[in-house]
Amino acid sequence: MESTVIHRDHPIFRNSGAAGELILTYDWSTTTIGPIENWSLSLLNTLGNILHSAFPMFLFWGEDLICFYNDAYRPSLGTDGKHPAIGKKGNAVWPEIWEHIGPMIEQVMTTGKPVWFEDQLLPIYRNGHMEEVYWTFSYGPAYGDDSKICGVLVTCMETTQAVLSRKKISETVALRTAELESAQDSLIRANRYLQNIINLFQEPLQVLEPLLEHNKVIDFRYKITNNAYSAYANTTPEDLQGKKVSEYFPGYFNTSSFVNIAEAFMSGKANTWDIHYDQDGLDLHNRMSATKLDNEAVVHFTDLTEVTHLQQELERKIAELERSNEHLEEFVHAASHDLKEPIRKIQVFNTLLKEQLKGRLRENEIKTFERIEKASHRMVLLIEDLLLYSHVSQVPHEKDNVDLNETLRQVLEDLDLDIQQKQATIKIATLPVVKGYKRQLQQLFQNLVSNAIKYSKEDRPVEIIIKAAVHNDSGTEYDLIQIADNGIGFEQQYADKIFQMFTRLHGRSEYSGSGVGLSIVKKIVENHKGRISAESIPGEGSTFSMLLPTG
Ligand code: ADP
Repeated sequence: MESTVIHRDHPIFRNSGAAGELILTYDWSTTTIGPIENWSLSLLNTLGNILHSAFPMFLFWGEDLICFYNDAYRPSLGTDGKHPAIGKKGNAVWPEIWEHIGPMIEQVMTTGKPVWFEDQLLPIYRNGHMEEVYWTFSYGPAYGDDSKICGVLVTCMETTQAVLSRKKISETVALRTAELESAQDSLIRANRYLQNIINLFQEPLQVLEPLLEHNKVIDFRYKITNNAYSAYANTTPEDLQGKKVSEYFPGYFNTSSFVNIAEAFMSGKANTWDIHYDQDGLDLHNRMSATKLDNEAVVHFTDLTEVTHLQQELERKIAELERSNEHLEEFVHAASHDLKEPIRKIQVFNTLLKEQLKGRLRENEIKTFERIEKASHRMVLLIEDLLLYSHVSQVPHEKDNVDLNETLRQVLEDLDLDIQQKQATIKIATLPVVKGYKRQLQQLFQNLVSNAIKYSKEDRPVEIIIKAAVHNDSGTEYDLIQIADNGIGFEQQYADKIFQMFTRLHGRSEYSGSGVGLSIVKKIVENHKGRISAESIPGEGSTFSMLLPTG
């Protein structure tokens, strides 16, 4: 081959950068490819292509695989290491990776088939140490003048930064994904925990999300419910989640179940109300509550259906009972009224007959007459008491202000004879003025004081104490009036029974009476919306306590 002068102005080396300069100034005579003037045209042309490419390129040439590269390749060699490698043998420049690239170069040289690698890790020595370097590269054959393969052209790009960035990104993504998964896991666990807790509640609970149109609630969507609620829809809380309420209970739009919840949500004011839900084939009586919480409505209710039915049944029974009581009272009134007439006649004819037979009667016959008289007298008393009872059953329309001091004064006046007979001492505190039925209250004191005198003990002076106080019971104010005696008393177990009609604890021969007096007292107290009770110790005395609402 003819030798040509190669200088800086040669078209191949003009503007060929630092790499071109290195080639020009290198002492090639010591290498197997010889002085630059003897280089083959194909080497010069290949170098021309390399030096004028802006893409990183590297060339292994000749039997020693002498290294060439361009300025674009230069940065990949780092600051402290291989550069300048131009003119050196391939295996001397790349000892650390020669076991990988040596065979590849060999293969390309013998087969002529190019190879291509993307983001391949090839750690190299540079910047004073081994570095993990990634490459995307191709090794292709470089042909000599005789069309034989004389070298390997490497077009390559270092992708370390891109690979490391991608690695970093995917590591960060993996880390964030793991964090998110763990957060989601915790969320699922927390949700399950919450669901388990609210499922323990017997009270149906719903957290509802409103569906708005033109700033008006048009329906709600289930967010959270518990088992107690979902049972009404024959399903589970999981199934209800996300569904519209109207899907399960289309009739709720017609009830306060929708209207009041929507109102509580829009106004932000919590609401509690009773509802009779008679839609969607249901018949429920519930006490509902709705509260706005952030962007949702929290609703819970107590199912009072069973209680309401029982209450309705009870009210029906009470009404029935009141009706039958009224009938009974009417009957008692009519019966006692009608009985009065014949008994009077018996008394009159008895007296007449006794008169007519006067002087002809034997002693035992006179006694029989007396027994008839006594029996009919008792009958009259009984009938009168019954009439009195039926009388107090009819409550007057108007209440008066009744001064109980005055009432008691009159009662004591009427009982004057009995008081004197028994030499009774009566201690009276100042009594209140109450709103009530004057005649009935007089009757009440009459019965209680006369009992206190009647059921006295023979062996000690009769003492009766009448006291008054104000009593507060669950926020209602009462006048408490107590009548205590030191009489014969009774067993406490009969304290309720004695207020029943015809109940008598003591013998007729010793203590006269019909057993109606305390029933009348009880009826009068009830007419005044009050209560009465008795406490007693046999042989020591009894105390009757009345509570009459004040005002
Ligand atoms: P009666 O006095 O006509 O028998 P009541 O209805 O007034 O009927 O009283 C019912 C019963 O309660 C009485 O028969 C008596 O046994 C008992 N009782 C009433 N008041 C007293 C009292 N102050 N002390 C003891 N027992 C009493």
